[in-house]
Amino acid sequence: MTAHEGTKIWTNSGDSHIMEPPDLFDSLPEDVRERLPRSVKDPSGEFETIYIDGQEFRRDLPKPKPGEKKGLGINARPADSTEDDFLNRILGGNDPAHRLKDLDGEGVWGEVIYPSLGIWTFNIRTPRVVKEGVRALNEFALDFQHKSPRFVCTASIPLIDIDDAVAEVRRASAAGFAAGFLPTRPPIGRPEWNDEEWDPLWAAFAETGMVICFHIGTEPHDPTQRTGVYYRGRGGAVLNYVETTYGGQRAVTQLIACGALDRHPELRVLVSEGGATWGPFIADRMNEGYRQHSAGVRPVLSKPPSDFLFEQVYASFQHDASAVPANWAMGWKNVMWGSDYPHFEGTFGHTQETLHELFDGVDAEVSHRIRIGAFQELFPHVPQPPGE
Ligand code: MN
Repeated sequence: MTAHEGTKIWTNSGDSHIMEPPDLFDSLPEDVRERLPRSVKDPSGEFETIYIDGQEFRRDLPKPKPGEKKGLGINARPADSTEDDFLNRILGGNDPAHRLKDLDGEGVWGEVIYPSLGIWTFNIRTPRVVKEGVRALNEFALDFQHKSPRFVCTASIPLIDIDDAVAEVRRASAAGFAAGFLPTRPPIGRPEWNDEEWDPLWAAFAETGMVICFHIGTEPHDPTQRTGVYYRGRGGAVLNYVETTYGGQRAVTQLIACGALDRHPELRVLVSEGGATWGPFIADRMNEGYRQHSAGVRPVLSKPPSDFLFEQVYASFQHDASAVPANWAMGWKNVMWGSDYPHFEGTFGHTQETLHELFDGVDAEVSHRIRIGAFQELFPHVPQPPGE
């Protein structure tokens, strides 16, 4: 049986964002506030500079071309607009009522909601600055979440001091967060996610039942070194975009290989915006490494690595046509759809067209699982979309 042809499709989103208001940090002491992330757009519209904790990062702003492919790859912006104009027009970034109107129009029901400017907090190196900045971000996110049962906001976590990290997970859970946001790589100078240092953090996520949410493209940047994420010149745009997807795969591999998901079978991990076909591929690679290099493997796991990936890891995608068969042909049931609203590379303005291209003619059970079921498994408190 197939579904959807000619009808409105409802979906949940495993990848959405709020846009922080410019006065978010105003109530903090000046010595903290001046070190928190601040974006200054160049008048040319070509790039922005992010100032954060004594560092500066320049980021090129994407420019659409007229007449780009529609449907799976449509570009919803008028060709002459800058990203700033576009985002300003999408008031739903920080106005809940406007947002719900947009979501209803697009057919998007529940959302996992990440910060936008808050992504840069992982570049902060001063413990007190990150701790207080994250508190302000989380207060704003929690207030936003209270506006609708459809919003699942992610709590930002301060990662310079492990005790601060654990305390914020517990505090966030008690305050009502069901998800915590981590960067795909820890802050510069901190060990990788497979290190023993982070064990108390995984235990805190497990104990609270909060979902660990990795959003791709969130690796902290070292301005003194080439990080690999900022290619310039030939092929740069595509190289940068594809490069961002690897971080989520690495984070998941680290959590499985170090035994964190084995020690905490109740832990659930979501990787947002990085496609989904990588899941079965990484599962195969991990199994091969685990088996063919068994002499050097530690810790020994209670099951093959692929079992942890298939059972405890989820991934959201927006346009990737190959993500749908990752469910029905490769058996990864935890693939879910995500809009990336209100970001430029997301589906705002063409969500229904994208959903029809992805799901028309697809088995109804598979379609339902990817649009609704996988999300609902992680966040069962979110009500059902209309008619589903
Ligand atoms: Mn996103």
